[in-house]
Amino acid sequence: MLETIGLRKSYGSQLAVDDFSHRFAPGKITTILGPSGSGKSTVLGMIAGLLQPDRGRVELGGRDLTSISPERRDFGMVFQHYALFPHLNVQQNVEFGLRVRRLTRKRRAERARETLQMIRIEHLADRRIREISGGEQQRVALARAIAIRPKVLLMDEPLSALDARLREELRSELLRLLRDLAITTIYVTHDQIEAMTLGHEMIILNHGQVEQAGPPDELYLRPASLFVANFLGDSNVFAAESEEVSERLRLPFATINLQPNGHNSSPNEHSSRCWAMIRPESMELVPEGEADFAATVESATFLGNRLRLQLRAAGEKVIVDVENRCAVSPSAPVYVKVKGAEVATWPR
Ligand code: ADP
Ligand code: MG
Repeated sequence: MLETIGLRKSYGSQLAVDDFSHRFAPGKITTILGPSGSGKSTVLGMIAGLLQPDRGRVELGGRDLTSISPERRDFGMVFQHYALFPHLNVQQNVEFGLRVRRLTRKRRAERARETLQMIRIEHLADRRIREISGGEQQRVALARAIAIRPKVLLMDEPLSALDARLREELRSELLRLLRDLAITTIYVTHDQIEAMTLGHEMIILNHGQVEQAGPPDELYLRPASLFVANFLGDSNVFAAESEEVSERLRLPFATINLQPNGHNSSPNEHSSRCWAMIRPESMELVPEGEADFAATVESATFLGNRLRLQLRAAGEKVIVDVENRCAVSPSAPVYVKVKGAEVATWPR
């Protein structure tokens, strides 16, 4: 088990990471997601041993690694621009870490071959680095990192230098590979799709602090803060009041039941101020009699697999995704039902 305890790092007077504590699930992939400058690389650098924390510890299996040098941590690393050795061929690059670890020539060659096969680039073994593409270079960097059979694999935006198509292709390849390898992996990215698809667990970082951590679906469905709701996916967020006993929620333009079979509220029950988040896919168009609220269509955008409606209800903007063949006419009234069970709330 890899664990960080209260890691903190400043650059001069600027606090880059504060109180970063997490237990990384063994053999699983944890993604760290956050905007640029939120401290992701600083966290990874401290775990790798490349940066000394001002405060806090890094532990592996209960052993304190904080003062151990990066080479002696036995961690594999892949970065956005992780320079391969241009004068060596692919196989020699993959063997590099094994040479440092004094494996015999025969064992090195075997291990390199095995690793190249695993990543399905054995046909590149004799190529020089400048003779292969950017995507292939990242595969070689990954092969080099895992050839040493690391205890932990650290990856910092490994796909962000590649173009969109290649990035998508490599993402699904990485997904298969990393899940098969079952190495404890920390994967840093600012791309939410990458973070959600690759991660068993996800940590959202904002201004050097953990906003929320948990399985991707939990973070998406139950964001714990306004930042997470806005950062992860598309969302509508409204100031609301919740009536806890009846599980009803008063929105600026409607009152909805949070449970499918919710009852009506009694007049004098306690209510509390909250934020309510409703995803665009958590609403649907229904006949007038079944609706929670009426709205007018301000615009409709064809997104291929769905149609995105920009609605206005009692002055509030509401984004609703509907089926791509749905016929709506601009400025016509529509009637909307909210899937109450999919609404997330948190105190305001
Ligand atoms: P991320 O990887 O999420 O983009 P970083 O960890 O690189 O964020 O940076 C976190 C904050 O620390 C940023 O505000 C950045 O400008 C600052 N920072 C990072 N590295 C240095 C450095 N070597 N010197 C000064 N400030 C730095
Ligand atoms: Mg970074």
